[in-house]
Amino acid sequence: MTSFHTLYDAAPDGTWAAPGRVNLIGEHTDYNDGFVLPIALPHTTVVQARRREDQVLRLFSSKGGDDAPVVLRVDELAPGSVKGWAGYPAAVVWALREAGHPVSGADLHIDSTVPTGAGLSSSAALECAVAAAYNDLHGLGLTPAELALTAQRAENRFVGVPCGIMDQMASMCCREGHALLLDSRDLTMRQVPFDLGRAGLSLLVADTRVKHDLADGAYARLRAGCEEAAAALGLPALRELAPARLPEALDRLPDRLRPLVRHVVTEQTRVEQAVALLETGDLDGLGPILTAGHASLRDDFGTSCPETDLAVEAAVAAGALGARMTGGGFGGSVIALVRTEAAETVAAAVGQAFARAGYTLPRTFTALPSPGAHRAPTTAG
Ligand code: ADP
Ligand code: MG
Repeated sequence: MTSFHTLYDAAPDGTWAAPGRVNLIGEHTDYNDGFVLPIALPHTTVVQARRREDQVLRLFSSKGGDDAPVVLRVDELAPGSVKGWAGYPAAVVWALREAGHPVSGADLHIDSTVPTGAGLSSSAALECAVAAAYNDLHGLGLTPAELALTAQRAENRFVGVPCGIMDQMASMCCREGHALLLDSRDLTMRQVPFDLGRAGLSLLVADTRVKHDLADGAYARLRAGCEEAAAALGLPALRELAPARLPEALDRLPDRLRPLVRHVVTEQTRVEQAVALLETGDLDGLGPILTAGHASLRDDFGTSCPETDLAVEAAVAAGALGARMTGGGFGGSVIALVRTEAAETVAAAVGQAFARAGYTLPRTFTALPSPGAHRAPTTAG
């Protein structure tokens, strides 16, 4: 791969890394002000960066498809002005500048082990690595949560994706060995120990390698539907609807909004149950919660698809304690909680089911809860 030095004829000032994530439970709840429970993946996006004193922003990614860097100017960045992958890092610089931070140009070299477009949040990993680099290079002193909000604003406003706050908070704030209980309403967080090894368990991730075209439009429609339902119920967000009031609330809503509300409210309860189990160390009990969460996304929220349904079904049939799709949906990845000794069997069973269905074979790996964004040692080259 082309090195920083070859591209820019200088050494980087430093190296920053930010991870992808999987969400254990709490799907499509962040934009309803609810709770989510992600872990960071061991897969990271690594940014080597050198501060420049002028306005030139040079961006290179090993996954960008070009040998030469994309060259932009910080003072000319505007939403819609940068097409393609370079929009993500440029968006972060734009958002920092917009927020009044005195940022200048930089030379960036990006490399990543986070699969892109697989529901594992490569976009947030990229944004957060760039945000962490800029924070240190310019001594901005922003907290991880402030950087996550900046990255979300960058993706919402500059790239034009109406994502919630989970991905960026997970990438910035997760800790090794822990799941992050995040309250999306006020961004309060709790690190919940998640010791898979002690329980003899593994978390299997299967990237189905499909992303159906309807994903983007559907996300915006679902989000709008949730907001419409909250407004109809006189609530600022669906998070404020207590489970005990669900039946009465459903009676007041049109048919098309009921399943959305049922998913969000029952999903909140599943997050609470999952946290209680993690805290008592009863990780086996997490399995059925994952599977129930998947059924809710499939039957009520409508964000699963044949490939994720098949992966969940095959994993559970092969002995997984539970499984669900993770991320926005319409493809992407599935997580399965498995006994460590059964991990390979379950992965193979998912692969066989895909082969029988004529689908592209999924990519599978096991993942331990890993650290959030951090400065990393700079290696030669
Ligand atoms: P996800 O976040 O689930 O991986 P998204 O569609 O939100 O999927 O983001 C994927 C996009 O992010 C890619 O199409 C690409 O534009 C950009 N991206 C992510 N990681 C990289 C990278 N390492 N290099 C270049 N672009 C990247
Ligand atoms: Mg993304």
